[in-house]
Amino acid sequence: MYPNKITLANLPTRIEKLERFSEQLGLNVFVKRDDMTGTEWSGNKIRKLEFSVREALDQGADTLITCGGLQSNHCRAAAAVAARLGMQSCLVLRTDDPNILPDGNHLLDRMLGARIHFITPQDYRSRRSEIMREIGSEYAKAGRKAYIIPEGASNGIGTFGYLSCMQEIVQQEQELGVIFDTLVDAVGSGGTLAGLAFANKLYHLGKRVVGINVCDDASFFQNRVAQITAEVAGYLGSDAVLDPGEVEVLDGYVGRGYALSRKEELDFIRDFARLEGLVLDPVYTGKCLYGFTEEVKKGSFQTSQNVLFIHTGGLLGLFPVREQFDL
Ligand SMILES: *Cc1c(COP(=O)(O)O)cnc(C)c1O
Repeated sequence: MYPNKITLANLPTRIEKLERFSEQLGLNVFVKRDDMTGTEWSGNKIRKLEFSVREALDQGADTLITCGGLQSNHCRAAAAVAARLGMQSCLVLRTDDPNILPDGNHLLDRMLGARIHFITPQDYRSRRSEIMREIGSEYAKAGRKAYIIPEGASNGIGTFGYLSCMQEIVQQEQELGVIFDTLVDAVGSGGTLAGLAFANKLYHLGKRVVGINVCDDASFFQNRVAQITAEVAGYLGSDAVLDPGEVEVLDGYVGRGYALSRKEELDFIRDFARLEGLVLDPVYTGKCLYGFTEEVKKGSFQTSQNVLFIHTGGLLGLFPVREQFDL
């Protein structure tokens, strides 16, 4: 039995075939429009937050504390959910430049009334959990009850969002009369891949589930995904395990680093928008689909017939890098 959730996302999200892109690559590529789960909470994080925030409410919380980069889609979605439910939110955002003009996700964070707590990249790396706990105790002193959501809501409870997404995909396969033998998604904190890969195993679906990482490296995420799925199994009371070796992460497309773009990635995003009328983001989906395209050319997907690419959102991340595009 899955834990309970709140219902906010626009589900199920549509699946569409990318006709011209498929023709170019010589295999069928479909897209699952998880970029359309909402407006304020668009993208993949709302699927996870539906479970995390339900757990927060069940524990009597009135405040959400979470963390991410300055342009975190996850933090923006959490701020939107908090405001919608009449809760407060505090976002611990990583930046070197606290005086930066609000743009993209950060602009919406402010619009939605989140309290923003900037920390340096060093503090983010070494002590973000401690900082969130300190903020939590300040709220407790003020008579409020805060619930801490880890980066990307990529823990056991949040990952139920993508176990559910796999069930949604299986339902849609029946409606569409197509079996997706291969799933591809961008990996940033691991929860999306963990949910899809673990569901694939639990329900014996036999799909190839491929994550393309946008930070860190393959072995980091193979281990991370295995840890997350162990937490999921705990909630389910299941003894199923996913070993790191069973998690497929295609490395090689981090490029200049997290949230840093190369010209070929930005050109790909532009050309893809014009080809399919579908806009990718520079931090996750653009790198992922660019990497997928390169791997198809190398022959890494020769056994795939019907590929489902999960468009996990991130559109607002385009605006702060507007000057880097050659349009
Ligand atoms: C967070 C995010 C991802 C990565 O998902 P994880 O579950 O964190 O690995 C992919 N795409 C977008 C747009 C995101 O915001």
